Amino acid sequence: MEKKIISNLESILNIKRKIKYSVIKRCQLCNCKKLVPFTNTSLLKSDKIFIEFPFVQCFKCGLIQQKIKFSNTFHKYYYSKIYPKLLNRTTKTHNELIINSYKRGCFLYNKLKKYYLNKKNLKLLDIGCGAAGKLRVFKKNGWDVYGVDPDKNLLNIIKKKYKLKNVYSNNFEDIKFNKKYFDLIIVSGSLEHVNNLNKVMKKINQYSKEYSLLFLDSKGYPNNIKEKFFNFNHHRLLGPVTMNFLAHKYGFKKILCNFSFMKVNKTLTKNKSKTNLYYLGIKKKTKDFKFKKELFYNDYFKKFE
Ligand SMILES: [Zn+2]
Repeated sequence: MEKKIISNLESILNIKRKIKYSVIKRCQLCNCKKLVPFTNTSLLKSDKIFIEFPFVQCFKCGLIQQKIKFSNTFHKYYYSKIYPKLLNRTTKTHNELIINSYKRGCFLYNKLKKYYLNKKNLKLLDIGCGAAGKLRVFKKNGWDVYGVDPDKNLLNIIKKKYKLKNVYSNNFEDIKFNKKYFDLIIVSGSLEHVNNLNKVMKKINQYSKEYSLLFLDSKGYPNNIKEKFFNFNHHRLLGPVTMNFLAHKYGFKKILCNFSFMKVNKTLTKNKSKTNLYYLGIKKKTKDFKFKKELFYNDYFKKFE
């Protein structure tokens, strides 16, 4: 079945190379073997073209994930060559992205500055920094800023325009930083795109100092679920429970996790009910995470039915 899905995909994307992939056998978050079918179709791009591309849900933790996982090589090729074409960005959309990204940076800086009062030599890492708005705002406020994003075109514009030195066009999985180096790590709108979620989180744990903050922002359940989320580019869907679990698994203790943190004007979306899921946590040595019964996803999801 997967073979057919992949060969269809190769012809739809009109690519000459073969897509290398594997079919997942275990949940990438909790390692549970019981994965149940969730949906068979995904949106290819925003003009409502759907393709056959299945998602499964973990019976234990509730993480919804694509059943087919691309090889690292293909994932990298896809995000550097095919994805930018699908997005079809122009100078106008680049400018909008830059403005929006700066607004979000201001908002986030104002929310987080209270955690860093009287601290000096602060370092920020933004994974999937996109139009680099957050980097610009934090830099303006005296931070040493670092960013990574696979979108080479956008990064080249940003680097020239705003003189940002430490911005790298690469996948975060393939780049190295010093251990225990950063005071704040941001992953905004990227958790659903990365190929190896565990590798990314493990590196976040290594590169962050003790008491460093981690800010995550993702298209969480039940945001836009049928209409847009099951986008072929989104390899997984986190909810409040799985987001929390993911951060905890890699050494962070929750400060907040909700859908309303950044509900501000239009910087996010025209429709107020469709906001992202936000997580803020602090790195601490904690005991192993145990699943409490009341945390099971089906109890949580009942509220939205
Ligand atoms: Zn799981």
